Amino acid sequence: MGKVEKVSDRLNRISVSQTLEMAKRSRELREKGVDIIDLSIGQPDFKTPSHIKEAAKRAIENDVTFYSPVPGFKELRQAVANKFKYENGLNFEANQIVISNGAKQAIANVILSLISAGDEILVPVPYWVSYGEIINLADGKNVFIKTDVEDDYKVSPQQIREAITEKTRLFIFSSPSNPAGSVYSRDELRAIAEVLAEHEKIYVISDEIYEHINFIGKHESIAQFECLKDRVIVINGVSKGYAMTGWRVGYMAAPQWVTDLCIKLQGQYTSGASSISQMAALEAISSEDNIYTLGMNAAFKRRRDLIIELISDIKGIRTNIPQGAFYVFPDISEFFNKSNGYIMVKNDSDLALYLLNEAHVAVVPGNAFGDPSCVRFSYATSREKISLAFERIKFALEKLK
Ligand code: PMP
Ligand code: GLU
Repeated sequence: MGKVEKVSDRLNRISVSQTLEMAKRSRELREKGVDIIDLSIGQPDFKTPSHIKEAAKRAIENDVTFYSPVPGFKELRQAVANKFKYENGLNFEANQIVISNGAKQAIANVILSLISAGDEILVPVPYWVSYGEIINLADGKNVFIKTDVEDDYKVSPQQIREAITEKTRLFIFSSPSNPAGSVYSRDELRAIAEVLAEHEKIYVISDEIYEHINFIGKHESIAQFECLKDRVIVINGVSKGYAMTGWRVGYMAAPQWVTDLCIKLQGQYTSGASSISQMAALEAISSEDNIYTLGMNAAFKRRRDLIIELISDIKGIRTNIPQGAFYVFPDISEFFNKSNGYIMVKNDSDLALYLLNEAHVAVVPGNAFGDPSCVRFSYATSREKISLAFERIKFALEKLK
């Protein structure tokens, strides 16, 4: 590495994304010829459906290649508003929608727009890797609320009540969740909404990017409750549900004043999202044909069943049964302070490294999600690869004494 000059305080406050870092390491090893099975990054291994790709090709042919309006094309914002209405029963006008470079930017827009130094954000643990770091970037204060495997890694209304202070500004969570795959029921969401509703300064970021990967039925949003009306910002996008991670299109729906702030920020930072990707996203969202999404959901469920069976075959691992998304987040602390004779595994990072080097399987250490007793396995890969990965994992773990 070359010389490093003075780094901004802002960047010193954040760490590298460990999901992307593990994916990078496994890519590098694979390029060197090592047969790595990548259970680190969360992205569907399915291909973007061809009717969506065709829409992008048409956009290029028709010269839809100029700057788009900062909040996104009108047609796409309208299609998103329609999606909220017909799929989720939520009423947002098209001008309350902002299209961004992935849901990640949508989340960053909201946090950077609402949070000032010292403002507190309630973050149930385990959380998606980037929440905490974007909050750090905004100089906000993460107030982590620990949840347990026994509670399906769900936060209770009582825990939220106890964590609220005068400085609480936001509550951020995902359902279906990354990394634990927990799915909150309507009643659970209502109970949380009622606690938050008592504090009118608190807003909610509801990250619903895994909406379409849900094994227990209908998706429920915390935005549906009257008591939180105009206080929920819904985040979603096309990355997961339509196998479009590389297209970089996410969106949010928010109260108008929050939308306006996000447009202001995005206008100075990145401008409108890629015009071509937006046309592809428009096709994805407005197409009647959601058979593909359903097929993907069924495939993920079969893989979930397989991975849970394989995990339960390894002594010392404890897990919840994920009900959505495509991750399992088991407690593997049983293996800490054990050695295979020459490598000592002290913690989750050591264990992830051990599995990478000894089993050639890439996983993400739990500390990236706030819980260092766990590791995250992504099962967005084929059943064959999952089976082979777990043969190797079992063999490597059984060597630890
Ligand atoms: N939220 C969660 C919970 C995620 O797992 C991810 C990762 N894909 C994102 C947001 C960001 O998604 P996108 O690809 O749309 O930026
Ligand atoms: N969200 C995915 C994950 O958790 C993609 C990587 C990322 O954006 O962090 O693996």
